Amino acid sequence: MKKYPKVLSFILAIVCITAFSGCDVLDAVLTTSDTNTTQTDTNSSADGGFTVHMIDIGQGDSILLECNDEYMLIDAGELGQGGIVNDYLKDHNVTQLDYALITHPHSDHYGGMLDVLKNESVTTKNIVMTEAMNTTRTWEKLVDYIDQKNYNVIFPKTNDTITLGNTTLTMYVPEIVKDLNNCSIIVRAEYNGMSAIFTGDAESSEEKLILDEGFNVQANLLKAGHHGSRTSTNKKFLSAVNPQIALISCGKNNDYGHPHKETVKKFNDANIPMYRTDELGSIVVTFNNSNMSLSTTSGTSEEIAISQTDTTTTESKTSDETSSNTSSKTSTTTKKATQKTAKYVGNKNSKVLHTKDCATVSKMSDANKVYFNTYDEAIAQGYTPAKDCNPQ
Ligand SMILES: [Zn+2]
Ligand SMILES: [Zn+2]
Repeated sequence: MKKYPKVLSFILAIVCITAFSGCDVLDAVLTTSDTNTTQTDTNSSADGGFTVHMIDIGQGDSILLECNDEYMLIDAGELGQGGIVNDYLKDHNVTQLDYALITHPHSDHYGGMLDVLKNESVTTKNIVMTEAMNTTRTWEKLVDYIDQKNYNVIFPKTNDTITLGNTTLTMYVPEIVKDLNNCSIIVRAEYNGMSAIFTGDAESSEEKLILDEGFNVQANLLKAGHHGSRTSTNKKFLSAVNPQIALISCGKNNDYGHPHKETVKKFNDANIPMYRTDELGSIVVTFNNSNMSLSTTSGTSEEIAISQTDTTTTESKTSDETSSNTSSKTSTTTKKATQKTAKYVGNKNSKVLHTKDCATVSKMSDANKVYFNTYDEAIAQGYTPAKDCNPQ
């Protein structure tokens, strides 16, 4: 606890600097959702595609994203595993990390980061992290180091985007809660209409929240939350993501029993193939030419054609089949009829109802909004009143 004030003042300093500089530094690297992002119309084969490397670091997470020779490292495994990450970077001739992102302050995610930052053969430009803190000595050591070295530290907000070559990374950042897993920064990558989502250790409660806030979670590739724990990958979230493949990072015979059999069953039931680092070693997936090329250190190699996702179909799948089919049809008509006069806005994914002026509504994507004139009409269609604005 002794060190807390220092950590806190570090955070405050960053907040103050950005507040008083008009966020110049942040603007240089971050584009907010308000800015109209121009869709890059590039020939995908010209840039080699977008590649996801799930590095086998045992129990923990470490994922390297690559596009046009630009790199983001999401987490760096447990304390003592940073060396594996450094070796991987060396083997792949990576000399610069444009971004090092720490999803949340648990040691199986940040533990190896100090060794990566201290690696003299790799320059790290920006650090992306949440304001959630831990009190462990190792966490404080990492924060002190980041502080001393004057890295450009970014604390993103939901819907902030980072560009990595021709890939756009959109971030979901929940409010800080006691359970650090549910403070995880979630990153959704989009490259030429293909997508991947990385959920850190987010569990059901964060998965519910992200749907409630209308964040677009649809992705061809899902990095399963919390190493395949039964506390993550709830059915509603899984249907909303609607992935073609799932990646799970966990250690061989780990103490937690990850991935839990309940999670494995969910993927099997949905016919979504799982690729696990404990079975396959490091897993590399390249998105290019409407295709995912997957290879692993154990020798697996597969080509998976990207299935064209129809957003409407994906969304209607999120709630139970029959009722959602009816409600999505109804909602289209309702939306047209009442958008201007509506007093209530529902989230099609989460079936939660908000008052029109609620802050959550402004964060919701238009595709997920369903408009209602009356409270009773919404309740009759199966919507539940939101706790934040408590519509009546
Ligand atoms: Zn973890
Ligand atoms: Zn965790």
